[in-house]
Amino acid sequence: MGIHGQATSQLAFGDNGNCVGYLLGEERQGMKIMFKMMNLARMGTALMGQANASAAYMHAITYTKNRVQGADVTQMLNPDAQGVTIVNHPDVKRMLLWMKSHLEGQRALIYFMYNQFDIIRGSASDDDKKEANALVEILTPICKAGCTDKGVEITSTAMQCYGGYGYCRDYPIVRYMSDAKILAIWEGTNGIQAMDLMMRKILMNKEQKNYVALRKRMDATVAKAKGIVDDKYLGLFNDALKELDELIEFFKGLMATGKFLNIFAHATPFLDAMYQVCIAWMHVWMLTIAQPKMQAIVGDAKGADRDKILTDNDEAAFYAGKVLSSQFYLGTELPKFGGRVKAITFNEAAAIKATPSVFTGALAE
Ligand SMILES: Cc1cc2nc3c(=O)[nH]c(=O)nc-3n(C[C@H](O)[C@H](O)[C@H](O)COP(=O)(O)OP(=O)(O)OC[C@H]3O[C@@H](n4cnc5c(N)ncnc54)[C@H](O)[C@@H]3O)c2cc1C
Repeated sequence: MGIHGQATSQLAFGDNGNCVGYLLGEERQGMKIMFKMMNLARMGTALMGQANASAAYMHAITYTKNRVQGADVTQMLNPDAQGVTIVNHPDVKRMLLWMKSHLEGQRALIYFMYNQFDIIRGSASDDDKKEANALVEILTPICKAGCTDKGVEITSTAMQCYGGYGYCRDYPIVRYMSDAKILAIWEGTNGIQAMDLMMRKILMNKEQKNYVALRKRMDATVAKAKGIVDDKYLGLFNDALKELDELIEFFKGLMATGKFLNIFAHATPFLDAMYQVCIAWMHVWMLTIAQPKMQAIVGDAKGADRDKILTDNDEAAFYAGKVLSSQFYLGTELPKFGGRVKAITFNEAAAIKATPSVFTGALAE
């Protein structure tokens, strides 16, 4: 696919002999030093995944607000109905809200992670630094792999909003899709991120301190959301947290009984599940702030009155969009977490039993 406009080269050392290697740091400390450098690169890759997909989304908004195709769904049977811009069609709105809700959740989660990094560097309190470090540790692979995997799906959905034009190079989405895919591959493939999260960041982490730090912050968000966020959304999130704790216990059980192959086979679905619940966490947090702000401007206005407020007032449109985005994520994306947990704890072993010979169909070299 290629990253166009970027010079990528491969250097081969030692082809002509005379190649000297220098040891940086102490012997046997290389991995540790490398991980310090790589962690920053992984955080940056998460941000790139979000930013690249965000740009694709903004093009999709622009296009869908201009392209006229099809009548309003309520006028389907009226042969004289005028065409409307595709942003009015429920399925197109669904695609836009899906992208918006993931992107807003990702942006908040990435900012939260970077803020912890600032605390590590700037706080006077050792306890705060330790907690911030635990949060950076656990969130780095979730943000790197979660935001970049979803970034590929978001750019693909942005292309879908364009219909056939999206697939053509005359329009910008092709480039965003190409740029999105590399982010899931470099700085440690997303498969490697999943194993890092599962083993180093959780199961091998003493007393699961990283996970405990994350859960503590999630509980604090729930406490603040009570009485502000509608119980029907908060209830979904509370159920997910309970299931998440059970999932961690399930993996601890596999670890205790030496079922390492099962753990590795479930690592990527587990990272995906962690991404889902972390984005939901951000939405509960955002809703706690956005809901009262929207209420203050829009009040109980309905129908045409509400439409007028949203058209005339940018702040009202912004907060109404935030609220709908969070409600969309919690109501339609978070429930998929339960299915993910069910699929993992079913503990299917096909991926373990599959020896290389079952993959028939390899092409002749
Ligand atoms: C455009 C571009 C620019 C790049 N720029 C740089 C750069 O500037 N500097 C640099 O150092 N590198 C760079 N890379 C390299 C990039 O980091 C690697 O391609 C990437 O880390 C994957 O390594 P690999 O290609 O050797 O794949 P492989 O390691 O062969 O992986 C192939 C597949 O197998 C899986 N896999 C491999 N090992 C395991 C395992 N132990 N357990 C489970 N699954 C496994 C991987 O997850 C992946 O899905 C660049 C790559 C590209 C495409």
